[in-house]
This record gives sequence, C-alpha cells and structure tokens, in this order.
Amino acid sequence: MNDLASGTSSWSTKLVHGGLRYLEYYEFRLVREALIEREVLWQIAPHIIRPLRFVLPHHAGLRPAWLLRLGLFLYDHIGGRNLLPPTRSLDLSKDEVGKPLVPNRFSKGFEYSDCFVDDARLVVLTARDAADRGAEIRTRSRAVEIRQADGIWQVTVEDTATGIRSSIKARALVNAGGPWVEDVLRSGSGVNARAKVRLVQGSHIVVRKLYAHDRAYMFQNGDGRIVFVIPYQDDFTLIGTTDRDFDGDPAKVKASAEEIKYLCDSVSEYLAHAVAPEDVVWTYSGVRPLYDDGASEAKAATRDYVFELDTPGGAPLLSIYGGKITTYRRLAEEALERLSPYLRSAKAREGWTAKSPLPGGDMDVSAIPALSAELIRGYPFLSSVHANRLAHAYGTRAAKLLGPAKSLADLGKSFGATLTESEVRYLIAHEWARTAEDIVWRRSKLGLRLSAGEIAALEEWIAANHVASERVLREAGGRT
Ligand SMILES: Cc1cc2nc3c(=O)[nH]c(=O)nc-3n(C[C@H](O)[C@H](O)[C@H](O)COP(=O)(O)OP(=O)(O)OC[C@H]3O[C@@H](n4cnc5c(N)ncnc54)[C@H](O)[C@@H]3O)c2cc1C
Repeated sequence: MNDLASGTSSWSTKLVHGGLRYLEYYEFRLVREALIEREVLWQIAPHIIRPLRFVLPHHAGLRPAWLLRLGLFLYDHIGGRNLLPPTRSLDLSKDEVGKPLVPNRFSKGFEYSDCFVDDARLVVLTARDAADRGAEIRTRSRAVEIRQADGIWQVTVEDTATGIRSSIKARALVNAGGPWVEDVLRSGSGVNARAKVRLVQGSHIVVRKLYAHDRAYMFQNGDGRIVFVIPYQDDFTLIGTTDRDFDGDPAKVKASAEEIKYLCDSVSEYLAHAVAPEDVVWTYSGVRPLYDDGASEAKAATRDYVFELDTPGGAPLLSIYGGKITTYRRLAEEALERLSPYLRSAKAREGWTAKSPLPGGDMDVSAIPALSAELIRGYPFLSSVHANRLAHAYGTRAAKLLGPAKSLADLGKSFGATLTESEVRYLIAHEWARTAEDIVWRRSKLGLRLSAGEIAALEEWIAANHVASERVLREAGGRT
C-alpha cells in the first residue's frame, strides 16, 4: 500500500540462511528448506545475493562447543550445500578474525556459510520480473474493500497519493499483507481469521566499519539470543537484531533507545573496541509477521509459514502467515500449488522459478567482478566504486541505465555518492520509485552516504522533473 518493500521486507537482517538457531527448536523441515534455498536464490540473483562466512566464537558458559559442532554438522549436511564452503574450526588466537575480539578471551571458534541479500532490491526485482511477464504492479495502492459475489472477488483499491478509487476483479486472491494480514481479512472479505499473526519487533543499528576483514560474526548472548555483526555497504557494519512482542501500528515501528543500548552492550561483550549508542549512524526497525504458534517467548515463535485457504462462495482467498525472505520463492510456488485447482492456467501448476534468473541475474555466481570490469571498459569514466555498485544493484541490466553515455556529464545531474540523473530516471521509469526515500533507502542504501541537503535536492529534482513511469507511458499510449 506504500512503496515496494516498505513493509517488513526491507527491515530484515538480510540473511538468506537456514537459521542455525532454529535447529534448537527442532525446526528441521524449515531449516532444510531454507538451506536449499540459499544456493537456489544465489544462482538466480548473484548480483544482489552474496555468500558470507560467519564466525562463531566460543566461550565457556554458553552453548557447549560439541553442541555447536553438531549443529554446524547438520547445517552443512541437511540442506544440499554444493557451492558454499563447509564449516571449519578456528584458532581465534591465531586467525585474523580473532583480532577484533576482546584479547585473550576467545581461543576456539567456528566459521560457517550462509548468504547475504539486498532484501529491498529482491522485492523490487521480483516485481520487475513479474511486470516483464505481464503483471501489473501498482504501488501506493491500498486494498480498502474485498468482497466476493458469484464466485468472483471484487477488490476496491485506493491510490494513497490521490485518493482515487478503482476496482479490480479476480478469480483468486492472495493475502500477502505481512503484518497487516488480519486487517486485510477484516476489509469485508467475509472470512473470519482462524490463524493469528504474532507481531515481533526487531531492530538493527549501523555503525562505521568496525574491522577490516570480510567475515560476519554470530555472537551468543547471555540471554540465549544471538546477535549478528555484518560487514555492510563497504564502509559500515550492520548489527542486529532484537526480538520483542509489538503492539501498535507496524508502519510506525522505530528502534528504541533501550534496543540500541542492548545491541551495543551485546556486541561490546565480544569486541575489543566497545560500541556505544553515539557510534550509531543509522537504525531501522521492522515487525515480523510471525504465525502465532502459542510460543511463550518472541524468540521461540516459529519462523515457518502457514497458509489459510478460504473459499467463501467458491472464490479462493489464500492468506499467508509468517515466513522468511529466504523461503519467499518456495512459499510463492507452494501458494500457487494450493490455488491450482481454482486456476485455469497449467503454467501456474508447474514450479519454474528455481531456474529463472531475476532481472539482471543472468550470469554465473562468480561473475560480478568481471561485470564491473566490463562496465569500466565500456564506460571508462566510471570509478570502480560506481561500477561495482551498479553491477551489484542492476547486474547485467546496468548498461541499460548508462545507455550511450561517453562521459559522466552524459549521465546528467549528479546527486552525490555516485547517484546520477540517468539512474534516477531509470528507477522512476522501470522500478516504480517515486520519492527520494524510495531511491536512497530502498532501491539503494545511498542514504548512508548522502547528506540531508543532497537528499532534499534529489526530492526537489524529482518534483520538478515529472519523469514518467512505465504505467503512465502505457496509459498515454507510449512505448515503454
Ligand atoms: C528484524 C527482522 C529480521 C529479519 N531477518 C530475516 C533474515 O535475516 N532472513 C530472512 O529470511 N527473513 C528475515 N526476516 C523475516 C522477513 O523479513 C519477513 O518474513 C518478510 O519480509 C515478510 O514479507 P511479507 O511480504 O510477508 O511482509 P511485508 O514485507 O511487510 O509486505 C507486506 C506488504 O503488504 C502490503 N499491504 C498490507 N495491507 C495492504 C492493503 N490493504 N492493500 C495493499 N497492500 C497492503 C504492505 O504495504 C506491505 O508492502 C526478518 C524480519 C525482521 C522484522
């Protein structure tokens, strides 16, 4: 109902992972399915997903070393790991990854594999892919009423910018409202929710880069929780997350001072240089729309997804509770399987997404450095930082936004931090961006580098230049 990925999906820890800690809750099916997804997703989107090694320092008083080793053995073997390297044991007194830790405290550790994703771009590229296959994407459109008559759903949609309402007819509906899944059901659908969503807040902090190497850490906290420390956007470190039940409007969730302090204190237990709230350059917070399985603690609530299928008057409405970014593709295919008896198209019944690259992802998993080099060859005026950023964001489609440019000036106005008018125009025309925030906090994370003045200048430029989106062009009968 707002921009793409403005709900939970840009506020995650950004891990494409099996979830090592879920093994403790015996969630073997979830962990296995998620582990398999790591390499599937990496291969269909190698520009926005990258492998990441996690260092797990061990010290007495927490989970015993043998239990960790056993968990990591399972983690390595139950989920079809072919490309990612296996777990190894570490001598933290000698290995470089021991250096950023409190001296003489950790001698033993483990290093294992997972993947890291640009979550907001994953959402945008999935929408781009759907649009390329004929779907109509309407951002900033709220479903305000859902009614069923004669086996057909009629959805009243309000444009949240203009207030103009329109109507959509559908044979089947998927309610993927995330934290708002129950609100959607309450808008006239006639369905009484049987399942319940449990809203669990999680916050992250971003600080300037804490160490030079490229590995992440997984720290076990005294309260049984874990906190990740992840190299982020080249010059920063991402730290998170918290887990606490949330009662309020998910659109207004914010990291509290208490959560910021908790995260700083947690990692300072491990790091040689303590992290303080004053070091924090950015925070973000999201609400997990978990399936409420009655677990007593937020951290123990299942991360698996559950479907509820209702067919009032014969028209199917599939509501989704819970899930993870990692399992989004499997979830989507399973949703269509559940709906297939009601759909005419045979294609809907066959899963095909595992082998179909997302836009810009049609390359080998190791091809990003070559793509960056190719961009520099074709556009010698690009700095390596600029080329690398474009390669990661747009993959093989990067040249599309650079066009026939022969110099940086040909890319139009510069907004700072390598953001140019050509890219802004591309994002508005082809990726549904409308505001500066859409561009600097979701289509990219350049907000970490741009000043408030530069972001305001971008907003002014967007307001003054009326760049047409694909939809506007289509409605005007133009080519897209
Ligand atoms: C702190 C935190 C850390 C996480 N870390 C990870 C992780 O590392 N790895 C992982 O795999 N997962 C992680 N997750 C889980 C993951 O982020 C979520 O499972 C996922 O983003 C949920 O996606 P969704 O599409 O269900 O919900 P959302 O992303 O919230 O999308 C729901 C969408 O529905 C729209 N909507 C709602 N009501 C209406 C309406 N009436 N009309 C139109 N649109 C409507 C909203 O605007 C929103 O865009 C994390 C979550 C959190 C909060």
